[in-house]
Amino acid sequence: MRWDIQFFKIIFPSVLFNINDESIHLTFDDGPHPLATPVILQKLKERNIRGTFFLLGQNAQKYPDLVRQISAEGHQIGNHSYSHTNILFKDKSFLRDEILRTKEILENAVGEHSPYFRPPYGYFSWTTLSVLRELKKECVLWDIDSKDYKLSSIQDISNRVVPNTRKGSILLFHDNNSTSSRVQDYLPALLDVFLAKGFNFKTLPA
Ligand SMILES: [Zn+2]
Repeated sequence: MRWDIQFFKIIFPSVLFNINDESIHLTFDDGPHPLATPVILQKLKERNIRGTFFLLGQNAQKYPDLVRQISAEGHQIGNHSYSHTNILFKDKSFLRDEILRTKEILENAVGEHSPYFRPPYGYFSWTTLSVLRELKKECVLWDIDSKDYKLSSIQDISNRVVPNTRKGSILLFHDNNSTSSRVQDYLPALLDVFLAKGFNFKTLPA
């Protein structure tokens, strides 16, 4: 594991950067997205793989049917704020509002869902963690960032992700405007590499 993640794990023991288990954990941020999310769901279904979708309240509000489909197909749903604002220098009431608004939208679509929250851009502070504790949410980051939102070739994404992924890794992908035209190429290629390597996939511990 990279030294910086080891370091963050010591300073922020309540934050999940990876899981102490034998599986790998796919996470998809920023959806639901009308083009990217259905493609991802299809590729996962074809391989009988489940993942975790960190949804934005503003998108879940627009596409409640996709929220229901994600859940109906056995995937886990987490909260990724309402508006994807950088919360680092926002006050507690702003953050509470972002989380609770999104929680309500997700509950209206699928009912009970996971306690997991992923801060936009992965930016968080002690204030963030104190609000999360108050709202009984758990902060989830990642140890493997695919950079799928900016790397264009399958090879570049694969070179970044595959050699660094370990048992217990949490991998970050996106279903948003920046990935919607390419995800049908890089995601299945990566999934098949992991399957060939004998990895199994799990959602985050319930
Ligand atoms: Zn995001």
